[in-house]
Amino acid sequence: MQRLSGIGVSGGAGAGRAVVLIQRAQVLRFSIAASQIGAEIARLEQARQRSAAQLDRIQLRLPGHDLRTLFEAQRLMVDDPMLLPRAASIVGEQRINAEWALQQVFDHLGSVFDGVEDPYLRERKGDLADVVGRLRMNLTPGGAGFRDVLGVCEAPCVLVADELPPSIAAQLDWTKFEAFITDAGSRTYHTAILARSLHVPAIVGLHDATARIAPGTMILVDGDEGAVSIEPPLEVVEKARAASEQRRRTGPPFHDHTARSLKTADGVDIRVEANVDLLGDAAFAIAQGAEGIGLFRSELLLAGRPADELTEEMQYEMYRQLLEDVRPAPVTVRTFDIDEDQLASGEHRRDTLWAAGYEVPRSRLGLRSIRLTLKRRELLRSQLRALLRAAAHGDLRVMFPFVSGIEELREARSVLAEARQEIGARGAESGPLRVGVMIEVPSAAFTADLLAAECDFLTIGTNDLIQCCLAVDRTDERVSHLYEPLHPAILRLIRHIRRAAARRKVPLSVCGEMASDPAVLALLVGMGLSQFSMTPAAIPVARRVILDMDFRELRAIAARALTLETAPEIEQYLSDALTHRRMLERY
Ligand code: PEP
Ligand code: MG
Repeated sequence: MQRLSGIGVSGGAGAGRAVVLIQRAQVLRFSIAASQIGAEIARLEQARQRSAAQLDRIQLRLPGHDLRTLFEAQRLMVDDPMLLPRAASIVGEQRINAEWALQQVFDHLGSVFDGVEDPYLRERKGDLADVVGRLRMNLTPGGAGFRDVLGVCEAPCVLVADELPPSIAAQLDWTKFEAFITDAGSRTYHTAILARSLHVPAIVGLHDATARIAPGTMILVDGDEGAVSIEPPLEVVEKARAASEQRRRTGPPFHDHTARSLKTADGVDIRVEANVDLLGDAAFAIAQGAEGIGLFRSELLLAGRPADELTEEMQYEMYRQLLEDVRPAPVTVRTFDIDEDQLASGEHRRDTLWAAGYEVPRSRLGLRSIRLTLKRRELLRSQLRALLRAAAHGDLRVMFPFVSGIEELREARSVLAEARQEIGARGAESGPLRVGVMIEVPSAAFTADLLAAECDFLTIGTNDLIQCCLAVDRTDERVSHLYEPLHPAILRLIRHIRRAAARRKVPLSVCGEMASDPAVLALLVGMGLSQFSMTPAAIPVARRVILDMDFRELRAIAARALTLETAPEIEQYLSDALTHRRMLERY
């Protein structure tokens, strides 16, 4: 039995046969039953026909002989007996899905091209990749995507992915998957956050699990220990499940239901709300001790459907239900935080791009969040109309994500005014909606005073703020170790924002994952922050930490921590200081 270790981001144990998803290459690998072979081969043939027809159309549209010749070569590849017929044989021989068989053929032919002396011929590997990409896309026509392909996997499975975007994770049938593990990621990885909402055991940051675990292998995922066991004996699986169950039963219970509002031991008011990704989790969050929903990630309402299918009416009902689920507690909805890829209905958009012959690079720093919704104004306006109408039924707030400066806030507010006018013109009812800004971009942090002057509240989204400030992509496993919440730059930036908000007398909260760590939470309280929103599972411990702590002591600890020069020094100091004062040992 081999063991891999990573970062356990969602507790519990799960075991099953590995289904491997290479998301970056858009390849899914899993074993199939003998009865499934014919259907997989038929998918290959269907992909061949669709690809051939598309390439014929492209050639007709293209001007110039040279370009046409290029696509003629691709057209020939589609029918080459070395490509699809070979993939079909592999499906039968190895009993694997069509995507994986096609990838094997591509890997083999690609290595042949690599070995060729002639540079012109070597470059034809690019054409082959293009053709294989098209065939792969046409294996799941009509934007069916991974979710539908995964439908044929036999439960129980464990998903092993290089990375797992939340939009895919949110659509999977989790009754089939006992757990998931990824090469990429950190605790603040969006899918890690989602895993905790879904109560699916998960481990991230494994670096090369997709290379080391063959599809179909039995694996055990222990999310509490951050350990993956490959081909474990049955008794090990049973033991891990029992231990996890035991931990869950004896875990820190939430004892202070009677006093929902919180104070430190020396009487300073602190407020803890919850980050919620799925509508159904709001009530769970309140049961964990949340005083409200501090962040509802509304973009997950879009997962699995084109944006225009999520109507104003549907959203109105959902936001109203959310308010009802937590009444009288407040709800803060952030407007869609998505990028272009997530907005487009995945496969369909790729189809358009492939047909046009180019790919658009994706970037988390590109057209996303408020930048995107300000361009797609009707999308934002209809969301705001739904929110304004729902606001008549409870204490609702809206916040704009990834704002980089005051102009974006002003523009977003003018869209809000337009939405209100539209509702008024219909004679429909709307309610008061407090408006906030998420501070996630360093430029917003440095101009927090300007933003505070024109909104009702600020929320520090530390997950993005840390990655933007330290220039570390939280999903890139090669640099994710540099993602450091206790970096002096981050602490100074938070201090700067806190001072700006205090000067303007505007409420400020922290809604990134940073506050879920009890020691860091103590530090933030010591720095003068008094409102937090975190993943529901972290709330019971956070409440106990706050009730036990003395603000004056924390203030002294924070003041000293802010004089230190490196994150490890700050971490060590914090741990020593809190343990010395017996503040953390029980958590
Ligand atoms: C954040 O960036 O801290 C945040 C809460 O937003 P998300 O993690 O959803 O990007
Ligand atoms: Mg963010």
